[in-house]
Amino acid sequence: ALILGIESSCDESAAAVIDSSAAGFAARVVAQHIASQDEAHRPYGGVVPEIAARAHVEKLSPLIAATLSDAGLTLDDLDAVAATAGPGLIGGVMVGLVTGKALAMAAGKPLIAINHLEGHALSPRLADPTLAFPYCLLLVSGGHCQIVEVRGVGDYRRLATTIDDALGEAFDKTAKILGLGYPGGPAVERLALQGDPRAVPLPRPLLGSDEPHFSFAGLKSAVMRAKLAGAHADADIAAAFQQAAIDCVLDRTRRALTTLSGMTALVVAGGVAANAAMRAALEGLAADAGLRFVAPPPALCTDNAAMIAWAGAERFALGQDDPLDLAARPRWPLDEQATPARGAGV
Ligand code: ATP
Ligand code: MG
Ligand code: FE
Repeated sequence: ALILGIESSCDESAAAVIDSSAAGFAARVVAQHIASQDEAHRPYGGVVPEIAARAHVEKLSPLIAATLSDAGLTLDDLDAVAATAGPGLIGGVMVGLVTGKALAMAAGKPLIAINHLEGHALSPRLADPTLAFPYCLLLVSGGHCQIVEVRGVGDYRRLATTIDDALGEAFDKTAKILGLGYPGGPAVERLALQGDPRAVPLPRPLLGSDEPHFSFAGLKSAVMRAKLAGAHADADIAAAFQQAAIDCVLDRTRRALTTLSGMTALVVAGGVAANAAMRAALEGLAADAGLRFVAPPPALCTDNAAMIAWAGAERFALGQDDPLDLAARPRWPLDEQATPARGAGV
C-alpha cells in the first residue's frame, strides 16, 4: 500500500511516502523530507512549543508537496494518510493532524491516527522486514525511556519506564551543562569520543535494583556537580556520563530480558538509539542473551515521517482507520491504544 505519513509532534516537521509492498528498506521509503527546527530553538537551549507549532504551520504543506512530487504521486494514488495524533507538544500535533485530516478528506482516503511512540516502536520492522513479533523493545527518546514487549501491532506491554528524566533528556541536559548547545545527544556522543570515562566517577542509579525502572535525575545532578567542581575536562565528563547511562540501560534491559521468553529479538528505537556506543553495548547484551539485535539506521531513530507512514501501513493492513473528528492527544501511553480494529464492536 502507498501511505503518506506526517510527523509534527516535537521540533521536526516531516513528510514521507511509504510503499509497504516493496521488498527492502530502501525501496519502501519512496520519498521523504524532514525540516529540523534546530536553528529556531537553539537560542533557547530547548524546544519552545509556540515556536514549534508556528514552524509546523509554515513548513508542513511545502514538505508534503515536495514529498508527493519526488514520489511522482498525487493524493489520488495514495491508499491512506497517516498522521501523528500524539503524544507530544499539542500545538504541533494539532497542526500535523489537521493537515492529515484535510488531505484525507479532500482525497477521500482513510485517515490513520498514529501514536508517535508506536511509530518509534514499529520503525525497526520498516528497516528490517524479517523482524517478527514478539520482540523486546528498548524505546529511548527525548521524552521517553521504556522497555516494552511488542506483541503485535497495537499490542504493547510496558515493562519499565523512567521514574524521572528520559534518557534523551539526560543527554540534552548534560549537553547544556557542558555548553554544547541544542540538540545535545549527538554533541555529547562526539565529545565523549575524546574523553576517558573512568576519569570522572558518576553514579549509576538503580543499578542492580529489584525494581524494573530507570532513573537518570541523580546522574544528571552528578554531572552538574562534576562540571561545577572545575577539576575535570569536559570530554571526560561527557565520556563518563555516556558510559554511566549505557551501564544503567544495559542493567535494566538485562533484568527485563530475564522476565521475558519467546522474544525474536532485542530491538532499540528512538533518538538515543542513534548513539553508536549505545548500539554496540546493546548488541553485546543481545549476543549474551542469545537474541538477535535489531536497530534501525540512525536517521530512522530520530523523529521522521517514514516511521509514521510505516505504522500507518501496519494498521492499514489490519483494516484499521480513524474518524475525522478524532482529537489530538498531548499524553497517550503506548499501552493504551485508542484505535480498535474496524468492526471490533467497541
Ligand atoms: P519522544 O519520541 O519521546 O516524544 P522526541 O520525539 O523529542 O521524544 P526523538 O526525536 O525520538 O525524541 O529523539 C530525540 C532525542 O534523542 C534527543 O534527546 C537527542 O538528544 C537524542 N539523541 C539523538 N541523537 C543522539 C545520539 N547520537 N546520542 C545520544 N542521544 C541522541
Ligand atoms: Mg528534534
Ligand atoms: Fe520521537
